[in-house]
Amino acid sequence: MTSHLNYKIKLKTNAHRVLGGFCASCGASEGLEIDHLKPSYKELIQTLIGKKLAKNGQRRYHEIRLLLNKGYKPEEFFQLLCGTCHNLKTDKNKDWNNFSKESNLFKSNQMDFFE
Ligand SMILES: [Zn+2]
Repeated sequence: MTSHLNYKIKLKTNAHRVLGGFCASCGASEGLEIDHLKPSYKELIQTLIGKKLAKNGQRRYHEIRLLLNKGYKPEEFFQLLCGTCHNLKTDKNKDWNNFSKESNLFKSNQMDFFE
C-alpha cells in the first residue's frame, strides 16, 4: 500500500517537474493541475500512446509518462495551471465546443442557466 502511494506521488512529482513546476498563467507553484493545451489533444494523445486510459485522477500523469516513454515532449500537449487559473480558463468556455458527448447535458444546463 505504501509503495503504491509512493508511486503515485512520484508519478505526480515527475509530471509536474517535466511541465516546469509552475502555473503557466500566474507562476504559482502550489495547487497545480495538469491542463491539456488544446481539447483536441485528448484524442491525439490516445492515438500517440496507443491506448485509452481510464478516466481517473491519475490519467494525465500516466499519459505524460507514456508520452515520455515514446519519445514525445509532454510540454507540447500539457501545461500546469493552479486551481484558480484552471477555473478561469474553464469559465471562459474555451473548451465547450470540444467537450465530449457525456458532457453535453452539463453544457446545456449551464447555458439555460445564463439565458
Ligand atoms: Zn495560476
